[in-house]
Amino acid sequence: MAQTKKVTKKPSSTKRAVDWNEALRPLLKKYRGRKHPLAYQNAYQLIVMIVLSARSSDAIVNNQAPALFAAYPDFNALSKAEPEALYPLIKGPGYRHKAEYIIGIAKDVAATGVIPEDIDRLTQWKGFGRKSANVYMSQMGLKAEGIIVDLHTLRVSPRLGIALSDDPKKMEAELMERIDRKQWHQAGMALTFLGRETCRPTDPHCDECLMNPVCGFYKKKKK
Ligand code: SF4
Repeated sequence: MAQTKKVTKKPSSTKRAVDWNEALRPLLKKYRGRKHPLAYQNAYQLIVMIVLSARSSDAIVNNQAPALFAAYPDFNALSKAEPEALYPLIKGPGYRHKAEYIIGIAKDVAATGVIPEDIDRLTQWKGFGRKSANVYMSQMGLKAEGIIVDLHTLRVSPRLGIALSDDPKKMEAELMERIDRKQWHQAGMALTFLGRETCRPTDPHCDECLMNPVCGFYKKKKK
């Protein structure tokens, strides 16, 4: 007797999960090769400028940097500086702490003769958290160990629906789960640029946004 095959129907209401690697493709393409807004010339300058950019803006740091680097051109010179001598050069929020942080980093590099290349060592520096380390590693083309999460990422990711936590560490873990490791650096920068240029805090430019086909915020807005 011929056997009949039982066919199980998939429920029609099943929601398809977004493949974020696929969905981010246009964004990665748009920002591939885009220069970081901090105008650094080498690893030393980048590290110092990343520290100075906390609670400040890239434009302000770019403005301050030439005088600072003229006076202290490398880690060795900076390691011998007194914090007070830096104050007039790095004016702005948290300048006293920042002076200590950059001198501390400079002393470490001057003593060891090497700039660390992994996130564990980089984040041992005071004033250099995971975001800073991820920016540095991404710009230097080092092997990715995490994804940049800054204020822009914290706003853009929940709108998109790619990561929902409001805690930077948890959000980074969510992003790392959803994005292939080979894209971590690029995706981190692309999400940041999206927030800077398009997904603005009060007036996101949704209609011209490349991500609107997959964006949860946009779908709700259009209902
Ligand atoms: S569609 Fe709108 S809310 Fe969504 S990522 Fe783009 S700008 Fe932001």
